[in-house]
Amino acid sequence: MDSAVAKNAAEPRSIDPVWTRIREAAQTAAAAEPVLAGTLHATILSQPKFENALSYHLARLAGTTEVPAALIRQTFEEAIARDPSIGEAFRADIMAVADLFRARGMALQLLTSGLALRRFADAVAARFQAVTVSLDGHTPELYRAIRGVDGLDAVVDGVRVLRARAPHVPVWARSTIHRHNFRFLPELAARARSMGLDQISFLAADVTSDSFNRPAGLPQVAGGAESPARLLLTADEADEFEAVVESLIRTHARELQEHRIAPGPDGLRRLVGYYRAHLRQARFVAPMCNAPWASLFIEANGAVRPCFFHPPVGSLRDRRLADLLSDAMPAFRDALDVPTNPTCTRCVCSLNVGLRSKLW
Ligand code: SF4
Repeated sequence: MDSAVAKNAAEPRSIDPVWTRIREAAQTAAAAEPVLAGTLHATILSQPKFENALSYHLARLAGTTEVPAALIRQTFEEAIARDPSIGEAFRADIMAVADLFRARGMALQLLTSGLALRRFADAVAARFQAVTVSLDGHTPELYRAIRGVDGLDAVVDGVRVLRARAPHVPVWARSTIHRHNFRFLPELAARARSMGLDQISFLAADVTSDSFNRPAGLPQVAGGAESPARLLLTADEADEFEAVVESLIRTHARELQEHRIAPGPDGLRRLVGYYRAHLRQARFVAPMCNAPWASLFIEANGAVRPCFFHPPVGSLRDRRLADLLSDAMPAFRDALDVPTNPTCTRCVCSLNVGLRSKLW
């Protein structure tokens, strides 16, 4: 089964918003201050991952004549390789942010890779009303190939511990389907079931927006190894994917009906249509969505977006949220026609809340 991974020449790389932002800041600083460029290159820009940058930096600080920096760095990186949750812990000030929102009476859901769930199980159980973990591979090999870390066992273990500590907290899986895992929908569903997850949802890979901290103007469908377009399916793969989806709809009718697998048959067929549309074999079709009427998206840098994919309508650094809600957001909604909007027709993650939800 894992031969499907080996067959694909372009190796996928995981998305790391924290590391992307650090690199962007370093690039900007290096351009503005040439005298710092060498240091920034050595400490950040030449490092492949956040963990490598940290190990380089910490080893330089801690190294002595007796215990040289190279040895400290090697030990540090061996520890990270053994326990990938250490890397996620470096990025985690999420609990402090969660407490801030909870103090204002908000109900919170956590979307996480799941690598550090075991470590933070008690903290998560105390703060979040639902948890979604990423599950892009059903075997350790496929998981590592897609996400770049040997982490499936850590996710499985983290879910097990969280379920034991907080059986009342629903735990879902989210699986981004692309050319590296499209053959394995049934296996991913089986893996989610064996982990005791309440649901697994499948979505397509976004290759056209600047969401997920991708730089604006990123080369898209015709891009090189760094482009998300490497995740698109070939025509033969799209045919194969369609067969996988139709088989899943037949063999997993009950799980689909009970929403233990999502989306339903129409949504699963839309995944196939999305990849066919990129091959110009079909038209892009917008989903039913009222996200900008029921939610908004605030980025770590203060940018306020109407949803994950549309450009910001303003920034909290410049204006109060209440002001953006009273003019910029209504203006955006007035101009938006979801069925025809080019961003909406290529959307991979929509929201369609029912009438009982509060709309703006
Ligand atoms: S369809 Fe997607 S891009 Fe369009 S408003 Fe909804 S979430 Fe945003």
